[in-house]
Amino acid sequence: MRSKCYFDTFEDKGEIMKGDFISQADIEHLQEIVGEERVSQGTSQRELHSHDESFHLPRLPEVVIWPHSTEEVSKIIKWVHKKEVPITPWGAGTSLEGNPIPASGGMVMDLQEMNRILEIREEDLQVDVQAGVVYKELNKTLGNYGLFFPPDPGAAATIGGMVANNASGVRTVKYGATKDFVLKLVVVLPAGEVITIGSHSAKSSSGYDLCRLFTGSEGTLGVITEVTLRLVGLPERFMAVRTTFNTTHDATATVFQVMSSGLSPAAMEFLDEKVIEAINHYKSMELEEKPTLFMEFHGFSEAGLQEEMGFVEDICQGNRCSSFASGIGLDERNTLWEARYDAFEAVKRTATGLSPLIIDASVPISRYTALVEFAKEATEKLRAYIFGHAGNGNIHVVIMGDPQDQKEWSQIEEANEVIVLKALEFEGTCTGEHGVGIGKRRFMPLEHGNSLAVMLKIKEALDPKGTMNPGKVFP
Ligand SMILES: Cc1cc2nc3c(=O)[nH]c(=O)nc-3n(C[C@H](O)[C@H](O)[C@H](O)COP(=O)(O)OP(=O)(O)OC[C@H]3O[C@@H](n4cnc5c(N)ncnc54)[C@H](O)[C@@H]3O)c2cc1C
Repeated sequence: MRSKCYFDTFEDKGEIMKGDFISQADIEHLQEIVGEERVSQGTSQRELHSHDESFHLPRLPEVVIWPHSTEEVSKIIKWVHKKEVPITPWGAGTSLEGNPIPASGGMVMDLQEMNRILEIREEDLQVDVQAGVVYKELNKTLGNYGLFFPPDPGAAATIGGMVANNASGVRTVKYGATKDFVLKLVVVLPAGEVITIGSHSAKSSSGYDLCRLFTGSEGTLGVITEVTLRLVGLPERFMAVRTTFNTTHDATATVFQVMSSGLSPAAMEFLDEKVIEAINHYKSMELEEKPTLFMEFHGFSEAGLQEEMGFVEDICQGNRCSSFASGIGLDERNTLWEARYDAFEAVKRTATGLSPLIIDASVPISRYTALVEFAKEATEKLRAYIFGHAGNGNIHVVIMGDPQDQKEWSQIEEANEVIVLKALEFEGTCTGEHGVGIGKRRFMPLEHGNSLAVMLKIKEALDPKGTMNPGKVFP
């Protein structure tokens, strides 16, 4: 690859670089494509697009551009490709592993103004959207049709960013991750060629599955401009459960038993006692500060859900739960779950001025208890908070610290290292949902062995100049 990229020194040298990829003549040409007001070299816009929601060091792009159509994206990419300018697609910048940080400077292409819902085909349970549509807005609109797109990362992410990161969330345990909903994509390749992949058929065995290739590619293979998503009917009835345990072991063992009992929770979340304590402070609540499970079930009838609730309660009692609160209906669900959505923010508020390192790893469900217990021990002396999408074996450990305090931060990074390595030892993955970005690159050889070389060949075949989101995914 011939790219003029600096990503090898990115993590060592924190300074913001002066760019050297884009000339005044380039800016004028870009302005001809999209108009003056949609190209910015202003400091505030460059700063806004220099970081995501993670602790990873910011890097200023030289220019930010806001296209409105696939055609504009193609024209811009053709130009920057010829000039070998690094280009980083940008959704809403809510990533947690440095995924959209322009590690080599160059251009950030912000897709947020491509935010039109193109067509809702309710009879097919499908929607076509531009990449910059925010999924919460999409679900609001789809609600009018009795439909929804289930993956729910919590943050105000765009559909393009969710596809590029293969995002998932609390409902993935029942409905699947973003990759399970992508039927068709329009993608602009690194030299500017536009391709359409997939179809409107709900199933297909026609050729290589390129939708899966681009889903989770983190902007390293091209820019996704349009997406067709499969949708699901909104559930008729909701049941929610919040239950606490005296030990982490009892709580996580319950996860395994519920999952293996034939019940099908729509969400199954674990929060340790420190997360609950943080939530109590942040939201002035009085939840029992013990290892806690939040569960949600979807069904057709109240009677059916009542019956399921009986089974769930039996399992929780069998694991010595110290409290069990449940309710049927959306309002009850929202009340019981109020605390869950603010978990990350509550943890961040425990130590203002410090940064969070967020560990995201996933293991087969049978190893979840062991991983959580291992993580607890590994982070005993740190400001660590454990929670996650337990039903998928997905753990998050948020460790608060000061990246400038080298001694403390190296302990935090060491904890990250050992927990991820343990997940890999348990035949899991270094990232359940946040993607590789910058932070997980070093684990890729161990997780993927010689198949990483195949990924690299694909990258080189599609992006021989290495201009698409350089410094990500590959070590
Ligand atoms: C409080 C909080 C909670 C979160 N919880 C979850 C969670 O439960 N599950 C989860 O999966 N994630 C979670 N996240 C992470 C994040 O929200 C998701 O990864 C989300 O998918 C990122 O979307 P975005 O639009 O912000 O994309 P960005 O962060 O802007 O970009 C993500 C990646 O996609 C690339 N990209 C963006 N748009 C395109 C495009 N159109 N074409 C090609 N590449 C593109 C970028 O270059 C980057 O590599 C959370 C984040 C926060 C802040």
